[in-house]
Parts: sequence; C-alpha cells; structure tokens
Amino acid sequence: MNSLHLIPEKNLCKHTTSLPVGGFIKQSLIDYPGHLSAVVFTSGCNMRCSYCHNPDLVYPELIRQQPRIDLLEMMDWLSRNRQLLDAVVITGGEPTLHAHLPEFIRQIHQLGLKVKLDTNGTHPDLLAQLIGQKLVDYVAMDIKAPLFLESYRQVVGSGFTASALYQVIQSVLLLNRHDVPCEYRTTAHPGLKPDGLSTDCQNYYGDVLPSTSKKLRLHLLGTGSQQRRAAATERSEGDDTIIRKKTNR
Ligand code: SF4
Repeated sequence: MNSLHLIPEKNLCKHTTSLPVGGFIKQSLIDYPGHLSAVVFTSGCNMRCSYCHNPDLVYPELIRQQPRIDLLEMMDWLSRNRQLLDAVVITGGEPTLHAHLPEFIRQIHQLGLKVKLDTNGTHPDLLAQLIGQKLVDYVAMDIKAPLFLESYRQVVGSGFTASALYQVIQSVLLLNRHDVPCEYRTTAHPGLKPDGLSTDCQNYYGDVLPSTSKKLRLHLLGTGSQQRRAAATERSEGDDTIIRKKTNR
C-alpha cells in the first residue's frame, strides 16, 4: 500500500458516482494487452447473448438483487494503488449505455491511468465522443456474428433490431477511420461455424471488417472476463469491502 491520499469526495463528479457498477477486479494481467489493469463492470446491457456469463449485469431483475459497488470506495482504492496499475478496463454489461461514462473515464485519467473500453458497439455516438476527446486508449469491440440481422439475432436475441445492427456497423466504420488501438472480438457460438470465422474473416463479416491492422480475436465459448469476475468476487469475500458492499440504489 502506498501513501497516496484518497480522492476527496467533493472532487468526485456527481456523474461519476452515478455510474452503476456491479463488479470490480483489482488487478488483471489479461484484460488489457501488455498492461496491469483493474477491471470495472458496469450494470445493464441491451443484448441477451445466449452464452452470457454475466446475467446479474444484464437482466434488471437480477441486477436489482446484486450488491452495487461503492464507487467512492472503488475510486479511493484506485487512487491509493494507482502506482501499482497501468490502466482500468471498463467492461460490462454494456458501458456505453451510460451517459455518465465520459466523466467517469476523466476521473480515471486524472489518476494517471489508461482506459480500455469493452463494448458491443451499439452506441457509436458515445464511442465517437470518447475517441474524439481522447478518453479511450484502447477499444475492444465485440462482433457477435456476421453483420446480418438474422445472424446477430441468433446470438444476441430476437429483440435485436435492424437499427441496432446499423449502430454496430457504424461503430466498426468509426473504429476503422480512427487510429485508436482496437481489436474486434467474436465469441465462438455453435451456430456460427467458427471454423469459417478463423480462416476467412473477410467473407465471414462482409466488407466492413478492416483488412488492415485491426485485430480479430476468436474467444472460446465459456471463457472470458465474466468467469474471471466471478472468481475474483469469490476470492474477495471477507476482507474486501469494495466488491461486496451493498449500497443504496
Ligand atoms: S453483450 Fe456481453 S454482457 Fe451483454 S448479454 Fe452479451 S455477453 Fe452478456
């Protein structure tokens, strides 16, 4: 533990304290390539992926039953331990659902930490704001399926609309246009013929997938940050008041 002071509560923007956070991992070596990072999980998601391992961050009735992370304590912890970290990864749920996200990221940057954002790409306007204001240092965007409505619905649920798919495509085009470091990620799904995915990405996704330096990673079904979050929460029981503390909603 270092001797850095806590962030005074008056210095925390009220918007920052409004961000719904349902999970927090203090240190991770694998969520931000080449960086030691903390991981913040926001609550709420506009997709219903069949393989989701974070239902308590997705379904409103489950979100209501979960402890909410105390943001003041979390920011205090980050402030006191910032010299032990390179970055904060913001994942979910879907972080871009929350208009308060830019203010939260500013608070993280004020600690001298980089920010990696994980997103499903359904809010290109907010993503453009974050990129334009240099609030994200790395973006990992999920491409859930080939960019056709029926394919997407097969993975993220029948409620997914053509308009939402349009937004996802806009996010891909946005990331293609900018030089912010990014990667596209796809979780293998039984109905999506992942063999074709790994051998022929361009045909699989269509013309919007960049053919240049952007990376595509194939995630295996059942792996990923969701399980790490569950394990970290389990490990944190007892002396970790940040993870388990229930706050007023
Ligand atoms: S986008 Fe992520 S958090 Fe949302 S339902 Fe899909 S896997 Fe779960």
